[in-house]
Amino acid sequence: MPPGLRLAKSSYQRVFMDYYLTPVADVAAALATTPAGLDAATAGQRLAEHGPNQLANAQQKTIGQLVLHQLADVMILVLLAAAGVSVLIGEAKSAYVILAIVGLNAVIGFVQEYRADKALEALQKMAASHAQVLRDGQPRAILTAELVPGDVVLLEAGNVIPADVRFLEAFALKVDESSLTGESGNVEKTVAALPPGDYPLGDRLNLGYKGTSVTNGRATAYVVATGMRTELGQIATLIQTAEVVTPLQKRLGTLGKRLSVGVLVIAALFFGVGWLRGEPWENLLLVSISLAIAALPEALPALVTVSLALGAGRLMKSHALIRKLPAVETLGSVTYICTDKTGTLTLNQMTVQDLYEVPAVVLAGLADRNALLTALALNTDATCGPENQWLGDSTEVALARYAAEKDYARPALETQFPRLAELPFDSERRCMTTLHQTQQGVLVLTKGAAGALYQQLTAGQQSSLADLTRRVDAQAAQGYRVLAYGAKMLPEMPPDLTPAAIETDLTFLGFASLMDPPREEARQAVAECKTAGIIPVMITGDHKLTAQAIAEKLGIISSPEELVLTGPELTALDEPAFAAVVEKVRVYARVDPAQKLRIISALQARHQFVAMTGDGVNDAPALKNADIGIAMGINGTEVAKEAAALILLDDNFATIVKAVKHGRRIYDNIIKFIRYLLAGSVGEITALFCAPFFGLPIPLLAIHILWINLITDGLPGLALAYEPAEKRSMQRPPIDPRQTIFADGVGWFILGIGLLIGALTIGTQTWAIGQGLPHWQTMTFTVLCFSQLGLSLAIRSRRESIFSLGLLSNKTMLGAVLLTVGLHLTILYVPFCNTLFSTQPLTVAELGIAVAIASVVFWAVEIQKLIFRRRGATPARVAAPAARPSGAAVAGHAG
Ligand code: ATP
Repeated sequence: MPPGLRLAKSSYQRVFMDYYLTPVADVAAALATTPAGLDAATAGQRLAEHGPNQLANAQQKTIGQLVLHQLADVMILVLLAAAGVSVLIGEAKSAYVILAIVGLNAVIGFVQEYRADKALEALQKMAASHAQVLRDGQPRAILTAELVPGDVVLLEAGNVIPADVRFLEAFALKVDESSLTGESGNVEKTVAALPPGDYPLGDRLNLGYKGTSVTNGRATAYVVATGMRTELGQIATLIQTAEVVTPLQKRLGTLGKRLSVGVLVIAALFFGVGWLRGEPWENLLLVSISLAIAALPEALPALVTVSLALGAGRLMKSHALIRKLPAVETLGSVTYICTDKTGTLTLNQMTVQDLYEVPAVVLAGLADRNALLTALALNTDATCGPENQWLGDSTEVALARYAAEKDYARPALETQFPRLAELPFDSERRCMTTLHQTQQGVLVLTKGAAGALYQQLTAGQQSSLADLTRRVDAQAAQGYRVLAYGAKMLPEMPPDLTPAAIETDLTFLGFASLMDPPREEARQAVAECKTAGIIPVMITGDHKLTAQAIAEKLGIISSPEELVLTGPELTALDEPAFAAVVEKVRVYARVDPAQKLRIISALQARHQFVAMTGDGVNDAPALKNADIGIAMGINGTEVAKEAAALILLDDNFATIVKAVKHGRRIYDNIIKFIRYLLAGSVGEITALFCAPFFGLPIPLLAIHILWINLITDGLPGLALAYEPAEKRSMQRPPIDPRQTIFADGVGWFILGIGLLIGALTIGTQTWAIGQGLPHWQTMTFTVLCFSQLGLSLAIRSRRESIFSLGLLSNKTMLGAVLLTVGLHLTILYVPFCNTLFSTQPLTVAELGIAVAIASVVFWAVEIQKLIFRRRGATPARVAAPAARPSGAAVAGHAG
């Protein structure tokens, strides 16, 4: 029995063994698998046996839990208490109505939350990671959740290890295990069994753990444990997953608590005053409870979640996949978008536009072949498939394709000059080298950024460098990416295969100028950013002049004050010097991913709210530290995606700007909802609380208040979430994430309109009683209801008149208002409802008067907007620059 093997069976069953002490072949036998992987049928059986490869806390709420959640709401409990009180005081009728309303409310809440949960679930499915496995001997991408023990996974740099695995092949494999072991730095992995002994997790060098990331090299590995049986799963049982709360939700929570205290005091006062006035206490108690319910916005935080989840669903339709819900809200606050160039601002469709050849370079061994074209064809990782489809990095493809079109195809040349070794491209060295066998010896071909290659040329060529640099700069200034080529011949394969030893003493062959056209939609998006008070910044590894030329074409740079900074220039600046210019820099060229972090912190220190894109493994820290980390969906590595709050499914800059627009819309609608709800509450409190002071009876019954609170407020309120973006939402500065809910006159609006609603209600009551109208209470009730409906229509825009918006631009709202009117007329005119709701049918004249009085609120808001427009004022959101939120408020989006 191999060392460490505690239990192994000939056919696969659950096996527990110390895989790190066991030779690979025995691991395979114990897992009943082979290096060619499992077949689909076995994998299916094992999936049924082991369950999905996911952590238990990722499971969704059940329908039962959702229903319970509705009923556990404080407001519902208060309502149930009210029903209990009604029964006690012999008002069984009220109790039924209250229960019916509770039921209806629970149904509406359930449907909304269920839809939101489904939307989130769909998002999670979209964001679900995939793993490359061998199934039936063929490489295949499957959902990580479908991995089973015995699967053979293929791993490469940028992958997150999808399950606990035992490596069977590893090439220069390095893994970052800090997420699991807490120890930073990369661990080099091996395949050999470890000598017997007891090893902590970090020392089990031939094992890889779920959730850790491959930073270098590639590997093949057997899955040994999945789901909760992985090391991560063991810890996950100890971790309570905290629900994500957005900054706005936090503020609403605090507001809710303060309001609760205030409202309880008011309700108690109301009860006390009424009692002293000799009102029947049963009635007072019911109305006091109703008053408290009317005024409390308990449902607000939940409604924000619903809005955000539905918003996230909509964002996905615009190709922006939300990974962290708070991002939906905070997108509206972005002041800087720092973006990569290739593929995001440009099309990532490189083509060679021009070649510059050093005349008369003859490389021995190439006979009379053109040296530069041979280098183009041989020094490449691009391949051409049987149907002429090219695979590989776009720069590589452009160069290889150009050579192939000139009859220098890679396969034919590689047969003659087989590749012996390569030094792959890395973005710090900015070079790549291949070594080939020729009859004269080993041919070394290097290509890379001109500046990097020039440093490696033989001493004899240094004199022509000034001329070469001038030529390259001239090309770069037109927006070309310039790649220079050098070569040398060695008698034999060198023992030391490092860049320092190989990439020296090269003979310059020439250079190729490539063009990657800017995206047309990016130009428009840049312009839109600028009117929206957002500054787009390009961060690229490319040449300063290339970057500058593209930035100018896109409009990122439009004045001499806007700066271009290179990586080396950035390194030379100390913190105060960088802080002084950071807000003026529009392009960072030749920067390393590590410098992105410095850019983010400098901007954040200047109170900017930063969105940052990234695709590589080393972009992950920047993505985590940005206020909104954005990963590329097509070209991004999994590590980058896991670190990001948002994934761009189409890698397109314009999509970021669309997402910001959505973010602003969603935030605006939440604020509209708050304005609507709170203005209504202030109106109800004013009417109920003040009437007795004017010597009037209590204007409404408890049932009426509940009706208004749940139906009149609820239906149109929810419909506000469907309001399209304000016309000028991208023509005003970003939303300050630290701004209170009541900023920009929102507080005054709530107070003013609330008092107006209250005054109209009391006015109607006074007038109707004075006229001796027996239906005074139903009239008052109708005025209160309809004035809020009018408000819901007028509040749809902060600036535009409803007449220019058109009723049909939010059909959900129109439907909600019509439905509410219909329901209200039902309880007014259906005799059975009259008894239930203690209402009386109004005459046409009474109804007409009620509608006319109620419409005052609608006109008041429309006139207020007219004055705004006349003054040419857009309700300002913030004074730029937007201030950063305090520590507590940012917690949600720092990720
Ligand atoms: P962007 O931000 O525009 O996407 P990047 O930051 O990804 O650019 P890199 O791919 O790191 O840029 O390239 C940096 C420089 O390295 C390029 O300007 C080019 O000169 C050189 N380079 C890029 N690809 C290769 C390659 N395949 N072989 C050799 N040199 C390359």
